[in-house]
Amino acid sequence: MLRELEEIWRRAQAAIAAARNLEEIEAARVRFLGRKGELTQALRRVASLPAAERPLAGQRANEVKEKVERALAERTGVLRGEALTRRLEAEAVDVTLPGRPVMLGYRHPLSQVREEIENIFLGLGFSIAEGPEVELDYYNFEALNLPKGHPARDMQDTFFISEEILLRTHTSPVQVRTLERLAPQLPVKVIAPGKVYRRDDDATHSPMFHQVEGLAVDTNIRFSDLKGVLLVFAREMFGPKTKLRLRPSYFPFTEPSAEVDISCVICGGEGCRICKQTGWLEILGAGMVHPRVLAVSGYDPEKCRGFAFGMGIERIALLKYGVNDLRLFFDNDLRFLSQF
Ligand SMILES: [Zn+2]
Repeated sequence: MLRELEEIWRRAQAAIAAARNLEEIEAARVRFLGRKGELTQALRRVASLPAAERPLAGQRANEVKEKVERALAERTGVLRGEALTRRLEAEAVDVTLPGRPVMLGYRHPLSQVREEIENIFLGLGFSIAEGPEVELDYYNFEALNLPKGHPARDMQDTFFISEEILLRTHTSPVQVRTLERLAPQLPVKVIAPGKVYRRDDDATHSPMFHQVEGLAVDTNIRFSDLKGVLLVFAREMFGPKTKLRLRPSYFPFTEPSAEVDISCVICGGEGCRICKQTGWLEILGAGMVHPRVLAVSGYDPEKCRGFAFGMGIERIALLKYGVNDLRLFFDNDLRFLSQF
């Protein structure tokens, strides 16, 4: 019996030392101290020994049990420590590692161009005005000298919401709203950037696009002021050598009216595919505010005059960046957008 206890102790020591994790140490505990464990069974057999052998065998058996319990506790402590170390290592953060790159957003090229246009005109003393995109027929057409049945209404394919309510087809209604708001204050110098809507969709037209409207009204504004302001704008936007050309045109809300061209940004006026060999690129429409527009907005056309212009932001961006398809600006392909 005593030798058997010695052997159990030796086997227990070996098994405990060999345990590599907490599951194996638990298996060792069950193997020796469990209900049917080797030592448990040996302890039971002590009771059936002859009375003379019982005290010594019982004492040894209890000693072995204590030693096994202590060995189990020690090994468990070591294994717990190792497990904790492993976990800490696994969860450790190496603060010296370079971080994951964060995708930085970019300003959309149209926003960049709009901001650039705004800054040029802010520098010329203009302030920024805004108006609603869902507009009344009155502001979009009537007050701009485009009464119902006027042929020029056909030039703009309109999204109507109801008979009197529509999506504005240009930023010009902001002219009227601004004059109404400020009348009879002078001078008036505003630009109005914003979205406009027309029923168009191809490589050079989108159903939604952006315009910037400009308006200046004062007692002695002349056509040459308009030309001067536009020349400063064109040179700031496209470079100091840019030339300006005005061609007579017609808009119901300006008189006289002009289409404004700049010397081709690609060929400098030599003639190329972009400018269709003319050397000129059309960038905006402009003119002197029609007296009737001033009158309906609360200004006396005998006492003040003004000029107005309107340009497409997409058009400016296409020319500035040499992009040939307007729709690229609205597809929001990051490969395209990240180039600006
Ligand atoms: Zn050209």
